[in-house]
Amino acid sequence: MALRSTQLDRMRDGSFDTLVIGGGINGAVAAASLAGRGASVALIERGDFAGFTSQSSSNLVWGGFKYLENYELPLVSKLCRSRNRLMKAYPDNIKEIGFYAALDESAPHAPWFAALGAWAYWAIGLFGTRRPRLLSAATIEHEEPVIDTSSTSGGIEYYDGILVDNDARFVFSFIRAAIEAGAAAANYVELVSATRENDRWVATLRDIDSGEEFTTSATTIVNAAGPFVDELSADWESQTKHRIVYSKGVHLVVPRLTTTDHHKVLAFYDDTQRLFYVIPMGRRSVIGTTDTRVDTPFTDVDDDDINFLLQQINDRLDLDQPLTKSDIIAERCGVRPLVVTAKGSDQAEVDWTKLSRKHAVESDHQRRVVTIFGGKLTDCLNVGEEVAAEIEALGIPLEKDLRNWYGEPSVSARDEFYRQARLMRLDAFQTKADTEPLTDRLWRRYGRRGFAMLDAIREDPAMAEDIMGSADYIRVELHSAARSEMVTRLEDFMRRRSKIELVVRDSDIRNSPGLAEVADILFGDEADRRLAEYFGGADAVPEAVRAGARQLDVT
Ligand SMILES: Cc1cc2nc3c(=O)[nH]c(=O)nc-3n(C[C@H](O)[C@H](O)[C@H](O)COP(=O)(O)OP(=O)(O)OC[C@H]3O[C@@H](n4cnc5c(N)ncnc54)[C@H](O)[C@@H]3O)c2cc1C
Repeated sequence: MALRSTQLDRMRDGSFDTLVIGGGINGAVAAASLAGRGASVALIERGDFAGFTSQSSSNLVWGGFKYLENYELPLVSKLCRSRNRLMKAYPDNIKEIGFYAALDESAPHAPWFAALGAWAYWAIGLFGTRRPRLLSAATIEHEEPVIDTSSTSGGIEYYDGILVDNDARFVFSFIRAAIEAGAAAANYVELVSATRENDRWVATLRDIDSGEEFTTSATTIVNAAGPFVDELSADWESQTKHRIVYSKGVHLVVPRLTTTDHHKVLAFYDDTQRLFYVIPMGRRSVIGTTDTRVDTPFTDVDDDDINFLLQQINDRLDLDQPLTKSDIIAERCGVRPLVVTAKGSDQAEVDWTKLSRKHAVESDHQRRVVTIFGGKLTDCLNVGEEVAAEIEALGIPLEKDLRNWYGEPSVSARDEFYRQARLMRLDAFQTKADTEPLTDRLWRRYGRRGFAMLDAIREDPAMAEDIMGSADYIRVELHSAARSEMVTRLEDFMRRRSKIELVVRDSDIRNSPGLAEVADILFGDEADRRLAEYFGGADAVPEAVRAGARQLDVT
């Protein structure tokens, strides 16, 4: 918690070039790009970083093959270039992955036509991935036996990228980069109000954790509130050319469905002729998504969503047992903030599925506000650059963009990490056969911070022990998270810095004595309070977790 306190201290009565509102992907890249180019930046997020839309994506870094159906060539071209750039900058965090699309007789396109589309997509993407393939039904049956090929006429395989960890962790990497470049950033801080005084913004902020209110000032504001951007613009009486409408998307996490190497996304057309996917997530599969028009950003998974997704999967896969509700390990639900023109047609008239997934960055020069509408994780580097250009145009001088505000450390740093890990036989600490090598995991998740972890393990091998049986987290990672990842509530760690809540069943979490040690390392004296908060009351903390707490030496 020391990191967060320091950040709040800097914000109290602070004076910044830019105040960024919102710590989803758009706010995070805006802060990283501005701070990386020498601006003084504060970022606030009223929940946890990536705690709203940016934790509910499909985790795909893609050019949008399906947008070709709407002839959105400029958008696809831009997204493909962004995808290529991201895959190059994050070779360990974003991996190329095959999209294995089986087409049955009711699919809107014949396999040969889909293959033409896949080749065009490959070309539009400047051949940045492997070459697509046309698949016969027999090949699909042989290569992916889980697909029910009884009515399949063939298919295609094309390639895009996937975030190996989760979207929220990726967002946090930009928050971390912003902090390392000198920005002040804090979660659980809400913007209460912002007014113009003497050509500056004076913002009243509330620390949601303590209830304290304080002020900070900034020359410019970046409105990166995602689904809430219009609300803020209205509060400030800032007229914008665009506005947001919402499309709800649901994913269900279930036990792994494929029997093969599980490094492919399976793609199908659902009954409404929309593409939906089975996406790998470690030892699990994620099915989705839906695309439902809604009027509010606050949504939940309902029975219709669940029944629809389970039915689509059961109709298209050859599973030993059909998937049922009891197979669901976790749910993901969010709204896509989609951009429309402010003066354009009313939501009721908009053709939903054809709405573009592009973003818009717009400035109010008089009030010195930059607003980000819509967007995708995939387009994040462009958003960062576009926001920086707008802020510069509002009179904040920036250093030259050396493009060092994003990306993984250099190849030589990576080589050195792998060399040290090999010499100390790091992977021999691995206890579970089905997980990836520890060296890969630590480097991907922590980059240079991984060197300090190697030191800690050399000093005390217990630092390499798994802390919660099924969670793929070793003790030293918790110590690092406590210091550097601004984990304010236990859920921040369980759901966003890690993906434990997504891949481990709730019953296993509740039966995990290791959770008490997790809380102890993350929160020290506050561990009990944070455990009680996580489980919804001190009395609700499960017996197994309490037992774990008793085994601890908390001194
Ligand atoms: C189902 C689904 C699947 C998707 N799949 C993909 C995909 O595979 N690939 C891809 O590239 N994109 C995908 N997207 C799109 C992408 O996830 C979103 O476009 C992106 O996450 C939006 O980020 P954002 O920063 O604009 O909004 P958010 O992540 O919602 O961030 C805005 C933040 O502002 C905060 N905020 C609001 N008001 C205030 C205030 N007053 N004070 C402080 N903070 C405030 C909110 O708490 C929120 O956290 C998907 C989206 C959905 C919904």
